[in-house]
Amino acid sequence: MNPDDITKWLDVNEAFVENYFLKKAKLTLVNKWLLKNSYKPVTDLQKSRQQILQTKFKTLQTINECSEDSQKFQKRRGSRRELRHCFSLPSSANFLLSDYIQSKVKIPTGFSSQNEFMKRKLKDSNETDFFLEIVKDIAYDLQLSSILKKISVNAEILLSATKVELLKVKKGRLILDDKASDVGGYLAKCVASEKCLRFRPIEMLQLSRVDASIAEEIRENIENMLCMPIKGRDGEVIAVLQAVNKMKLERSNDVLNEGFTQRDEKLLETYAAFCSMAICNAESVGNYEKDYERNKILLEVVHELFEEERILGNLLFKITIKARSLFDCQDCCVFLLDDEQSQNVQEIKFSKIFTVNGPNDGEKFSHKHPFYELGAIAKRSLFIEEDIKIVTEDVNDELLRNIKTPVNSLFCKPILNSESRKLGAIMLLNKHFGTFQEYDEMLFGAYSIFCGLAINNCILYDEISKASAQRTVALEVLSYHTTVPVEEMKEFQAKQIEYDRDEIHRLTFDDFSLSSDQMLKATIDLFHKMEFISHFSMNEETVCRFFLAVRKNYRSIAYHNWRHAFNVCQLMFAIFNNTRLGGNLTMLEKLGLAVACICHDVDHRGTNNAFLSKSDSALAQLYGTSATLEHHHFNQAITILNSKGHNIFSQMSSSDYQTVISMMKDAILATDLGRHMSQRKLWIKDNHITKPDNNTIRSILMTACDIGAITKNWNVQYQAANLVMEEFYEQSKKEKALQIQSMHSINMKKRDELPNLQIGWIDQICLPLYQALSTLDTNFQNLVERVLANRDKWKSLID
Ligand SMILES: [Zn+2]
Repeated sequence: MNPDDITKWLDVNEAFVENYFLKKAKLTLVNKWLLKNSYKPVTDLQKSRQQILQTKFKTLQTINECSEDSQKFQKRRGSRRELRHCFSLPSSANFLLSDYIQSKVKIPTGFSSQNEFMKRKLKDSNETDFFLEIVKDIAYDLQLSSILKKISVNAEILLSATKVELLKVKKGRLILDDKASDVGGYLAKCVASEKCLRFRPIEMLQLSRVDASIAEEIRENIENMLCMPIKGRDGEVIAVLQAVNKMKLERSNDVLNEGFTQRDEKLLETYAAFCSMAICNAESVGNYEKDYERNKILLEVVHELFEEERILGNLLFKITIKARSLFDCQDCCVFLLDDEQSQNVQEIKFSKIFTVNGPNDGEKFSHKHPFYELGAIAKRSLFIEEDIKIVTEDVNDELLRNIKTPVNSLFCKPILNSESRKLGAIMLLNKHFGTFQEYDEMLFGAYSIFCGLAINNCILYDEISKASAQRTVALEVLSYHTTVPVEEMKEFQAKQIEYDRDEIHRLTFDDFSLSSDQMLKATIDLFHKMEFISHFSMNEETVCRFFLAVRKNYRSIAYHNWRHAFNVCQLMFAIFNNTRLGGNLTMLEKLGLAVACICHDVDHRGTNNAFLSKSDSALAQLYGTSATLEHHHFNQAITILNSKGHNIFSQMSSSDYQTVISMMKDAILATDLGRHMSQRKLWIKDNHITKPDNNTIRSILMTACDIGAITKNWNVQYQAANLVMEEFYEQSKKEKALQIQSMHSINMKKRDELPNLQIGWIDQICLPLYQALSTLDTNFQNLVERVLANRDKWKSLID
């Protein structure tokens, strides 16, 4: 067996070949085939997935290396999601895409009916059947080249001509090629007159001025001729048929061949009508096919350009390579604009130029570059904001006068982003065969749009990456200042701090009696007393660092400062110890509430939510306008918890951890008075109180502690109210500076309105809350009484 025989045998046994290939072909072979057929090679999926996982977790690790505690936190929350994300990565989006954009339409080709011999036989036996046959023959075919071939053959049999040729006509002009010629110019005449010509050329030679050699050729070869125009839908000539030399009929005794008859003409005319339909349909299908191909190419281009390309240089290099192969030209250049504000051609400056053979990251656009002169055309295109197209016929264009680079054809387009801002220009240089056609023009138009979007995305990505890096640096700096170094913690632990330990368990505790350090020591002692530290296996040093960090994150403002945080927390402990409602909560609930209390106003800036919203602050942008501050306090608390050596919850079980964090969040958000008021409506209806569930009780207690200064002795209450006022006053000064309208700024004009404000505050917010609590638990009755006493004091200040 020689290779030819084997090839022949394989050609016939397709099933065997397929089977063999499926069993034996290796990935390298498949990739070779893919590359050869200009597809993207496949990567070893198994291997690449592992690599993705490895790199993913590597990043995860490096992020968390800075904090062991936050690593635990992250692992719990993120690891599953990360895993899921890794496994749902597309195996290879490119192949999926090519699968999706494969056309599902099967276009019938080369419907073959009877062969030529059978057709001739049929014509002799039954002319009507024959005619039907040759109509059917072209009616079911949708491939233009095959239809044209069939028409010639069928017409040859129909007319008993020795030769029939079919030529396409476009816009009134004959399309001639190597095989077809218009000897004597009769076809052109037929196209021009749009009428059938039937004649003996020899008789016309005397009349027409035909070149002697051509006349000789005609005399020798053509006895008689029939030219028939085929007209399209709108009556324009789309093709022309030329039949030459009618065959002599065997049974005819005539010596003289009279040539094509009137009947032949009539028959061909009828057939031409069917031919017209077949050609038009095939042309439409052909155009659709071209459209489909173009759209498919564009989809692939979009995919390639947008596929994870984040480095501008790589993207632009890819653009030039892709364009060269798409438009089959010698080179593609991308000129990147330096300054898009230029008003005239001289001022337009390019920073870089990218070419197919240039380096990946482009070259500096300078006069040393071989394509420097072409930049002038790109500048012009940008300046006039239009394409510049130079085709083979007009290469002597004045634009090319000073250009030494040989140019056969050139196509240049501005590149714009989605907001029509100019980014640069893209240029195709020297098409390999012919010149840039309408098809190229449409494809190039769409291509340049995608390039603009891809470049824009790349630039945006770069900006975002930089902003993100800046943020990371800022966070690192912030984190340093948010947390407490070990030495500071040791120093605090070494201090001898004394205070009245009995007082801190009372509901009547004096908010202004302790110093900052005493309050911190008292907080730690309260945590011990509640057995949180032993019960949840907290590390003493971590607890100390955590509270030190929380204190550090309160700002030095009049009211919402570390003292307020401690007072709220102290009242919560007093409620745990002195009431049934508080005592009934679980350990975990109490812990969540206590930590929430100490953190609930952390990083308060002395301005309220309305101010943040009206002044369009970054906080309002970040968290929205509902409970803006409260979200920030919670997030700030989480930031502290996540810092290395600060997570007091790190020894907890996973479920306890999640519960305590979510309870903390609910509790801190509950300190938003707006939320409290809308929630209150649900359990106090027409002075009737329905017993709330534990979630609601926790929220109510948070508010009760937050506004607890109203339940203290008069001197504490008076001092606290004045501090709140002072803070409001500071805010109203800011409001004035920013020209923000606010209720407070009007009220702040007169400081002596404080008693009235306090009475309103007591009547609308405080009293109903404590009264409701005392209905649920009589232990709260003392608080109500003190609120009422304070109300009297305020009232007396008015009178
Ligand atoms: Zn508060």
